[in-house]
Amino acid sequence: MNCIFCKIINNEIPSSKIYEDDLVIAFLDINPDSLGHTLIVPKKHYQDLDDIDNQTLMHIMDVAKLLKKRITEKLNCDGLTLIQNNGSVQEVKHFHLHLKPSYKIKKDKSLEEVYQLLK
Ligand code: 5GP
Ligand code: ZN
Repeated sequence: MNCIFCKIINNEIPSSKIYEDDLVIAFLDINPDSLGHTLIVPKKHYQDLDDIDNQTLMHIMDVAKLLKKRITEKLNCDGLTLIQNNGSVQEVKHFHLHLKPSYKIKKDKSLEEVYQLLK
């Protein structure tokens, strides 16, 4: 299967990984909408919300809570939005949850600087 997220999970292509456990990894989005834009991705290939099982989904939400706390503390964001795309609006057909921080005052940091703060 030619899936970019499976390749990231298998370390075939690099990523700025900030979290990993038996079921999921989380890494910084390569084309972030805001500083700290993170993707939580199950290690098993599920296509979308219809495909993924509820147990894995609940685990992803646990990790979202943990990373929301870390991102908020380390990057001082004012808000954080969870997004999960399906169908025509889903670019990468491997289930993932976006964590998109927002800031009242725009901050300027490189992906590497953000990675060093969050890893
Ligand atoms: P979707 O529209 O599928 O919900 O969003 C896919 C996201 O994956 C996009 O925000 C895109 O920037 C990100 N993305 C695509 N390819 C890569 C990659 O190779 N590495 C990383 N870190 N993010 C990627
Ligand atoms: Zn995949």
